[in-house]
Amino acid sequence: MSEVTGRCLCGHVTWRYDGAVGPASYCHCEDCRRCTGSAFNVGVRLRRADLRITSGVPKGFTKRADSGRELTRHFCPECGSPIFTSAPKHPDHVFVKAGTFDDPALVRPDRQSWVASAVVWHRIAPDLPSSAKGADA
Ligand SMILES: [Zn+2]
Ligand SMILES: [Zn+2]
Repeated sequence: MSEVTGRCLCGHVTWRYDGAVGPASYCHCEDCRRCTGSAFNVGVRLRRADLRITSGVPKGFTKRADSGRELTRHFCPECGSPIFTSAPKHPDHVFVKAGTFDDPALVRPDRQSWVASAVVWHRIAPDLPSSAKGADA
């Protein structure tokens, strides 16, 4: 099994994973919108036992989600980047933020949830003027 790694924006929190990468899912719920500061969350299911935090100690924030279940969101205490989510309902798994992966090509979304809460601006229109890099590129 190849080793998978990831980190937060500032590099204080790093992680390593030695298992098979599970499927990813988009979540459009309001809590995910607020905690990511964006239109939706992309979470990748990893086995909790095979995930190691290799540096830093993520801070946790626990809240009852729209589903009615408790969820703890773990983030970097230095830069605030969301790292992963855990929940008592899924004791064997954590849901790692897709954007923390060092190799984003490993992320394979196969479902989306809470589409009833999705914002109208989450779809990127194909005819929107686009630039390959920066705004002036
Ligand atoms: Zn950080
Ligand atoms: Zn959500």
